[in-house]
Amino acid sequence: MNMTDEEFERIYGRKPYKKQKKVKIYWGRIIAAAVIFILVVYLIVKAVTGVYSLIKGDKDKTSDGKSQTSSAAAAGTKAKKNNDNDSQEKPSITVAEGSITVCIDAGHGDYDGGTTDNSGTRFEKTDNLRIALEVQKNLEAMGVNVVMTRDDDTFVDLDERCEIANDAKADMLVSLHRNSYDGDISGVEIWVNNAEPAYDTMLAQNIMDKLVAVGISDNRGVQYGYVGNPGVNYYVNADTVMPSCLVELGFLTVDEDNRLFDENLEAYGKAIAEGIVKTAYDTGLVDSDGNRAISDQLLSAEKYINRAEDESQAPTPAGGFETDTEGEVYNTQENEYY
Ligand SMILES: [Zn+2]
Repeated sequence: MNMTDEEFERIYGRKPYKKQKKVKIYWGRIIAAAVIFILVVYLIVKAVTGVYSLIKGDKDKTSDGKSQTSSAAAAGTKAKKNNDNDSQEKPSITVAEGSITVCIDAGHGDYDGGTTDNSGTRFEKTDNLRIALEVQKNLEAMGVNVVMTRDDDTFVDLDERCEIANDAKADMLVSLHRNSYDGDISGVEIWVNNAEPAYDTMLAQNIMDKLVAVGISDNRGVQYGYVGNPGVNYYVNADTVMPSCLVELGFLTVDEDNRLFDENLEAYGKAIAEGIVKTAYDTGLVDSDGNRAISDQLLSAEKYINRAEDESQAPTPAGGFETDTEGEVYNTQENEYY
């Protein structure tokens, strides 16, 4: 029975209870809203994780960068090591194994610290030993028999240093030092006996040339005698019979020289070794194949003559000059050691 609302009201005196109006559910809108919500949440999450991963990514990148740097450094070290190995296996210049003997003298030692840097905390004796060990390593790789006056932090006096070189019948001696000066000078100088012996000069010049090729702040040249007094000699240049020189490898009082020393320690070691071995060829100590060409110790003629004259005992030249086995050398001058 269908009746209109008016009929219902007339009969029952009230309006019919209407079925609760069905709430229209706008599923489309809900779904749309849900989709939008999900989208927004998704985007927020995405954005947050994006930023996070960006930060993390940066970090990763940084750490990657670092690890790349360090791995590059490691690779570099490895490459360097390989190079070192290579240079040890195949140095640029060699002599027949054990064919020549070279004495390397690391200046000062123990309580004799030598000079210091401006802060007074860096000692010459330490730098001298560092470079001496590098030179030794390279020389040995080149086939040279090396005699060290010291290979640790011990004191060896100057007489003894000369004796070690003379007794070992070393063909050359290179004394390694670092300089100091209260003034505006820097760089490398190499000292030779004031008799200006040819082989000693050659040795010093060859070492200087190689060091210049690596890079030094200033080439102060090969010099004769003693700093401030050409009339006297450094002890090791006076009391030895073989070609010798004293290298002042930059000034400890100059930051730039210290930086160069630290950065080029290995390269300087190699350079000095190359200069020494080149001198073995230049003096005819070895032949072009690197085999020893003279039977006796290589002598510094001018130093030897000086010494003999001073001691009034001229040597009997036999194939040049005889090797002195006494290790006793002229000592009439007031030799000082810088
Ligand atoms: Zn010194």
